[in-house]
Amino acid sequence: MKYSRVTEAFEELEETQKNLEKTSILAKLFQESEDELEEVVLLTTGTPFPAWKNMDLGVSSKTLVKIISKATGRTEDEVEQAWKEKGDLGLAAEKMVEKKTQQRLFTGELTVEKVVDRLEKVAEMEASGISQSVDQDKKQKELAELISSAEPREARYTARIIINNLRLGVGEGTIRDALAEAFFDGEHAEDIQKAYDFTNDFGEVAEACKEGLESVEELELVLGRPIKSMLAKKVETIEEGFEEVGKPAAIDYKYDGMRAQIHVVDGDVTVFTRRLENVTEQFPDAVKAVEENINADNCIIDTELVGYDPEDGGMIPFQKLSKRIKRKYEIQKLKKEIPVEVRPFDLIYLDEPILERPYSKRWKKLEEIVEEEKESVRLADHRETSNEEEVSEMQQQSLSDGHEGIMMKSLESEYRPGNRVGYMVKLKPVMETLDLAIVGAKWSEGRRSDWLGRLFLGCYDEEKDEYKEVGKMATGLTDEQFQEITGKLKPLITEEDGRKVEVRPEIIVEAEYEEIQKSPNYSSGYALRFPRMKRFREDKEQADTLQRIKKLYQDQS
Ligand code: AMP
Repeated sequence: MKYSRVTEAFEELEETQKNLEKTSILAKLFQESEDELEEVVLLTTGTPFPAWKNMDLGVSSKTLVKIISKATGRTEDEVEQAWKEKGDLGLAAEKMVEKKTQQRLFTGELTVEKVVDRLEKVAEMEASGISQSVDQDKKQKELAELISSAEPREARYTARIIINNLRLGVGEGTIRDALAEAFFDGEHAEDIQKAYDFTNDFGEVAEACKEGLESVEELELVLGRPIKSMLAKKVETIEEGFEEVGKPAAIDYKYDGMRAQIHVVDGDVTVFTRRLENVTEQFPDAVKAVEENINADNCIIDTELVGYDPEDGGMIPFQKLSKRIKRKYEIQKLKKEIPVEVRPFDLIYLDEPILERPYSKRWKKLEEIVEEEKESVRLADHRETSNEEEVSEMQQQSLSDGHEGIMMKSLESEYRPGNRVGYMVKLKPVMETLDLAIVGAKWSEGRRSDWLGRLFLGCYDEEKDEYKEVGKMATGLTDEQFQEITGKLKPLITEEDGRKVEVRPEIIVEAEYEEIQKSPNYSSGYALRFPRMKRFREDKEQADTLQRIKKLYQDQS
């Protein structure tokens, strides 16, 4: 197929904002593509390489200026000038080539095949050079030749493809719908989407569409090639969570780490990010952990990689851990500074795809193959329950351990790649926090009888100039925190009545909670549902007011 036919369609796509029109333009192009359907469909995604392949050309805008200059015989300054004028390197390339065409002999038409072959060749040069320095001159020469044999419009789009900036306003959904229109009269978009979620390869999906629906349905997950991760919906309350995922449900801690899909193929481990990037080289510790502590030669596990402090084992948040993702050098040093622990929470392949089995079964299998070892691989903290209190306790514990909250998952459901279906929901504290004073407490029983356990929280009533109770906080504190708090509260005790004590309201804590309810049980007339400790507010002397609580209560409904 002539490359100019593709760039003609690109121009049409650029000229319309309407999705339906975009879909028809693409559908028509796809129908005409015949033997080069795969290449054409991939080009419309902005890169000739399928998403899962992790291939790119490694060309920056600056380098493209050099390439255009080489291709057209113009100076780099001239190219820069055109870039400034047009505000776009594609248009600059087009302008430079226009000038050139006036002076040159026609070199023959570019075909899709020629263009894609050339881009592939360069990407391979780039890939093989990752650890050495790539021969930049050779790469630039190949690309300059490509641009020099392009017509002006072809140069515009080729330049944009080279720097991975095609910008046609064509998303995944448009390509999916265009395939449906081209091959199934607009039907079966959902099957096409599913095939894409498994393969992350629109070229392959397009070829299957051409063969027929059966071929589309047959596209399956391939071990070694990343599939899209199942995503979570967000819920505001535990109750809502249960409504979404059913009872009983699996409750996991939600770690603040990096999602990783780990493939083991005949014992070889590959680590992919949620964006399908291959980060195996960057995470040798995760690879080793899986090699040593996952007893399966062929599997795919869905995990969170959680960074920990090598000195005290404490959690390191994602923000810091993310440094490791892009690093191609000093990998060993970073591994020492921010080692990761693998925390698997799902299994989607074990000698065969198992993603259609219910989560409870997948989890059981996962338990069977994981040999837990701290600072290597440990299953995600996981419990199965129908009890809201228990879920709330887990949430509090998770938060006070420094994690992000909890995930609630349906035990019955399959694994749906790429979907924000309600098979898995995240429950994050969403309410504004309140700064409250500890106004009372209760001595614990048993092992902790010399600790003040249950803490009574109070807000400040401005009108009456006194503190009023709004709730009790029983959990969410570590043993150390309970000890610390007991030490702080003892000197503040003003009255003791049995196990209950009243204290001067001098310690302020920031509390999270599910919601505010009206309640006759507390002197404020309000109760916080499931309050939990976020942190001490040593910097504050006064708690939030009853008036603020009233306002938050009204805003809730
Ligand atoms: P969010 O990024 O806020 O949409 O939350 C979903 C993310 O939570 C997932 O993509 C995972 O990276 C992360 N996560 C942490 N712990 C878990 C867990 N136990 N189960 C599922 N996802 C988890």
